[in-house]
Order: sequence, then C-alpha cells, then structure tokens
Amino acid sequence: MADCLFCKIAAGQIPAAIVHQDERLVAFKDVNPQAPMHVLIIPRRHISTLNDLADSDDALAGEMIRRAASLAREQGYEGRGYRTVFNCNADAGQTVFHVHLHVLGGRKLTWPPG
Ligand code: AMP
Ligand code: ZN
Repeated sequence: MADCLFCKIAAGQIPAAIVHQDERLVAFKDVNPQAPMHVLIIPRRHISTLNDLADSDDALAGEMIRRAASLAREQGYEGRGYRTVFNCNADAGQTVFHVHLHVLGGRKLTWPPG
C-alpha cells in the first residue's frame, strides 16, 4: 500500500533497525522502545489489522508468533519471559495500520496492561 509506513520499511524505502527478514516477514526495533527488547514483526504484505487476517493467513500468523519466540530466545528471554501484543484499532491504541506483533522483553511487565 503506497502510503503505509511499515510497507515502506519492508520495502527498504524507510530505514529501520532490522533484526530479521525473510520472504514473508520483517522484524525491526521499535523506534520508541517500551522495554529493553521491543521488536515489531510485520508481514511484508499489507494487512491493516488483525481483523483483516483471512483463513489463508493462518500459516503467516503462525510464522509471526514463532518468530517472536525465536527472537526472544536469541535475547535470552525464553525462560524469564516476554510479552507479545497485537493492538487492534482504537481502544487498543493501534497507530500504524499495517498489522504488527510487538515483542517486549527484558523487564518485569505489569498486568493488566493500561
Ligand atoms: P501500535 O500502537 O500497536 O500501532 O504500534 C505502532 C508502533 O510503531 C509504536 O510502538 C511506534 O513506536 C512504532 N513505530 C512508529 N514508527 C516507527 C518507525 N519508523 N520505526 C520503528 N517503529 C516505529
Ligand atoms: Zn502496509
């Protein structure tokens, strides 16, 4: 999608601190980190929100989740823990409308979230 920030990051048109990329996914550091590890995992293909995932995206969603676990493991957070979050639409505070999985680790995270 022409005007989408995360599509531009996936295409290399806007710089980002990329920590993983493959045919379907890109993972990069959040520019405003909320924890020592704060990575966003996006599909290369534009999908606006979690509501827009189709049955045919099940494998893609699984890859995003498994990549989150893999990146957290690489940082040594497998045992102590970390959090994964999909914000969807206004009440959850979604600000970028290209679906992304937040991966936060390295500090004690409170529950419930604000
Ligand atoms: P959300 O509120 O769930 O839509 O999250 C959007 C996230 O994107 C926020 O945590 C922002 O800090 C992050 N963000 C916005 N612009 C950039 C950027 N250019 N590079 C990396 N992260 C970004
Ligand atoms: Zn996009």
